[in-house]
Amino acid sequence: MSGQTLELLAIATTDLAAIVRGRSIRADRLDSTDAGVGWCPANLSLTPFGTIVDPNPWGTTGDVRLVPDRGARYRTVATGSPTPFDVVMAYIRELDGSPWPCCPRGLLKQAVDALCDKTGLTLKVAFEQEFQLFDTQLPLAHALSIAAMRQTDPFAPRLAAALEEAGIDPETLLAEFGRDQLEVTCTPADPITAADRAVAIREITRELARTMGWRASFAPKTAPQAVGNGVHIHFSLVDAGGKPATYSATGLAGLSDVASQFCAGILRHLPALTALTAPSTPSYYRLKPNSWSASWTWLADRDREASLRICPVTTIGGRQPAPQYNIEYRAADATANPYLAIAAIIRAGLTGIVERMPPPPVVAEHPEGLDAKRRKALGLERLPDGIDAALQALREDAVVTSWFPPDLLAAFNGVRQAEIARLKGLSAEEVCALYRELY
Ligand code: GLU
Ligand code: MG
Repeated sequence: MSGQTLELLAIATTDLAAIVRGRSIRADRLDSTDAGVGWCPANLSLTPFGTIVDPNPWGTTGDVRLVPDRGARYRTVATGSPTPFDVVMAYIRELDGSPWPCCPRGLLKQAVDALCDKTGLTLKVAFEQEFQLFDTQLPLAHALSIAAMRQTDPFAPRLAAALEEAGIDPETLLAEFGRDQLEVTCTPADPITAADRAVAIREITRELARTMGWRASFAPKTAPQAVGNGVHIHFSLVDAGGKPATYSATGLAGLSDVASQFCAGILRHLPALTALTAPSTPSYYRLKPNSWSASWTWLADRDREASLRICPVTTIGGRQPAPQYNIEYRAADATANPYLAIAAIIRAGLTGIVERMPPPPVVAEHPEGLDAKRRKALGLERLPDGIDAALQALREDAVVTSWFPPDLLAAFNGVRQAEIARLKGLSAEEVCALYRELY
């Protein structure tokens, strides 16, 4: 305590609109807050527009607890804000401490446990996140240039320091292709930590930009013609002994049998998964062919148009492929709840393993250039071209909907329908301008 301020710690949950919400306690009382703080079930039906979906599965009744996961605390004084950024991620629990079935973080934990129980495997995950800076008055700078990065100084080094202090282990910070667009990555971790980090990185980035008088936006498209801001989810499988299990020297494009089944499961359910990983109207301004994002149920070796991209490995310095080898899921953005996104990827991959799905083809040509017959033979399907189509794909995929409780699906659909209604009649420019502010 400094006399002027009493430090607060936010106990946080990330909702279906990917907004991080919660309640703060005195930071010195975390130890005695093992029962968490109160929370309202209907909060899961909040929209990004400051409204609550009505009706929703809970209405005005009921109570749950936001119980802090004390190992998932992200604290830094380096954002330049007057008091520390201090957030601890929580599980939403019933009043008796049992898991609340609709908690997104809890659903990810269940998916991780299911994968481990059925296969002995775990996943290592890292998020690669793109964002743009606004209100900077920065001059035009060349794409990917050192100057584009340096002219934001000291933004990037301060971001690196803040992430490091928060225990996030930043890896690469770079100027991306778009105007004032940057990208930040961190080292891989278990799926829950990776999602926690993705959330913390966004919040810390936004706070740092704010203290510099700028705004950081992670919206999938900040203008219809702008470069997209992607959230690329990198994953690899690890066996019970902690050894990498994604790579096989003799496998197709290096995929082990189990990794190829895991990818087959994702590809099989990808149209429905897209609703969960790219859940907003502007998500589909980004998921278009020739945008370096994703638009087909397509697994490719080192092609950035593919939805599942087998990432490169290097042999420099005698490096072995197995520990580096990973797959990148590219059809995600920051309007998606990261816990549900990975939960869905894990569940889909697990289905592929359990059903021993045949290895999916690793396709070298862009599906756009293939005729319909060839695409059909290769199992290539266009991803939904809008949120309505994605929601329909989700509704029609009984396997995907079976992974989530009906109340969660109802709340998710409610939030999406509220977004669709709110955006009715808006031009793409207006939608992008709105999401640029919201995300
Ligand atoms: N900005 C692209 C996207 O929307 C990704 C560019 C890249 O490959 O990093 O996903
Ligand atoms: Mg990038």
